[in-house]
Formats: sequence, structure tokens, C-alpha cells
Amino acid sequence: MRRLLSALLLTTCAGFGACDGRPAKKKVLLIGLDGVRVDILSAANTPNIDSLIARGTFSDRALTRPRTVSGPGWSSMLTGVWSDKHLVTSNDFTGHDYTTYPDFLTRLEQIDSDYATFAVVDWPPLGDTASGGPLITDQIDVKLLFDGEADTGYQIADSQSVAAASAYLTFQDPDAAFVYLGNIDVVGHSTSSLSPEYRAAMEAADAQVGMLVAALRRRPGFANEDWLILMSTDHGRRDDGGHGEPSLQERTIFYLASGPSAIVGVPQRAPEIVDVAVTALAHLGVTLDPAWSLDGRVVGLRPQQAR
Ligand SMILES: [Zn+2]
Repeated sequence: MRRLLSALLLTTCAGFGACDGRPAKKKVLLIGLDGVRVDILSAANTPNIDSLIARGTFSDRALTRPRTVSGPGWSSMLTGVWSDKHLVTSNDFTGHDYTTYPDFLTRLEQIDSDYATFAVVDWPPLGDTASGGPLITDQIDVKLLFDGEADTGYQIADSQSVAAASAYLTFQDPDAAFVYLGNIDVVGHSTSSLSPEYRAAMEAADAQVGMLVAALRRRPGFANEDWLILMSTDHGRRDDGGHGEPSLQERTIFYLASGPSAIVGVPQRAPEIVDVAVTALAHLGVTLDPAWSLDGRVVGLRPQQAR
């Protein structure tokens, strides 16, 4: 089967750019946008996200589960299991079981330390010991931390994250990367989900998504790489901007998987937040071990990649 797969890859030009006949190197970038109401995202002017959607699988009816707050949301997205396993049920991460259910970057390192892994985050518990964290362990190769909770806020911290990530994505050689942006959620809380400010925060994030994609395209080896760009959010929100309850508005998220290996269109089954990590691992060619007890499924990859 491996030989057949290689032959298939050799006959297709999987990269975005020119193809010299070598199999494209599979890589993953996960962009996490905190607290996005997908109906507002759809109404906003987001040309960069739109162009990713045009080249991939997109669902605006993907789901997470209660409690619809960031602690369990990001834990489920990055580990591929629900709260009954990772044990994070609030924004207090104390008592988590990331030893059994690590984030997908750490899992890659445990599978094969040759994987080059990278993350940049500005909500402290994702990257450091704040509130019982971190979710993303120190086993990954490079973890950059900015502080959205500082007086300068998430707008500045997100800009710092994107600048640092852009440089890293262009000039270094990660196989798997995670970039987190927190400002949308904060604006949603301070102004409501229906405010022009919340919509503008999404449009600013879209520009940052464009910068990250441009950074990938500037890579010297880009023509021979097969980048899967995954994007999702940790929870929806009510009209008043709040979230945490089990309403459909708060549980509804979006799921995007874009790139040469992605199926273009809308998945028949509504994706779930736990599918993100599992799809990232599958794209990189990881054989999913049932002993890991992952809850997610592969969503949006072409059949030869789904395993
Ligand atoms: Zn929030």
C-alpha cells in the first residue's frame, strides 16, 4: 500500500505552485480564532478566509460541546478528545489529563521527535502555567508566548503573534504549526456579537490570516510542499456576546480544511471540534492508533489521505 501511495503522489502535482515531480512534503498549519460566531463571520468581508474556503472543506454548522468556554474548547480541538477524557471543563485547567491526551503537536513529538513543531499563543493557559496550564507542552520544538492579558491587550498581542509566526513560517521549516488569535473573543465580550466592532475584529483577523498564508507562499520550498490549512474556533456565542451554555448558538463553530489535499465542498456530516487534531495527524501520515482513544474523525481530506 505504501508503494502504491507513493506512486499516486508521484503522478500528481500536490503543491500550490510549480511541481518538479517529487512527492510533496505534507505540512499542517492550524489557525485558531477565539470565539467566532460563524453567521457573523459569513456576513463579514473576509476575502482571505473566502479564498481558503474556495480551496477546501468548510462547514458553518460544526459543533462543540458544553461547556462552551475556551478551556474545554481549545483542549478538545488540540487533543482530539472530549472533556470526559482531557478533564478540562472550565477555564481552570487544573486536573487536566494531557499526559494521556496531549495536544497534537506534543503527540507528534512523542511519535517521532523528527517532526518540527511550532506554536504561538497569547492566551496564557495555552502556553504557560497560568490557570493550571499549559495545554501545549514544552515537548514541542518552538513555543512562542505573547500576553493578551497584559495592559496592551489582545489586539497588540495578536499582531505580535502573527508577525512572529509569519517570519517563522517563511524562514524555518515546521511540519506542524498552531497560531492562536484571541482578539475576536475579547471584542465580542466588550461589545456584543451584533456590534460593528465584533465584525471588524473578524475582518482584522482575516487580514492576519492573509499574512500567514502569504508567509507560507514565500517559503523557498513551497512548490514542493502540501500544506493543509486548518481553521476553527473554540465556541460560538449569544447575541449579547456571552457564552458558556449549551445553546446551539454557543455550540455552533466552523470547520475549515484547505489545500491541495483537501476535498472542496461542504461535508455531509457536521464536523466536530475534536476532528481538527485528528485531521491534522492524518494529513501528516500518522497512523491513528486505537489505543490513543481519540474521539475525532478525519474530515475533508481526499480519500487516499483519510485513514
Ligand atoms: Zn469568551
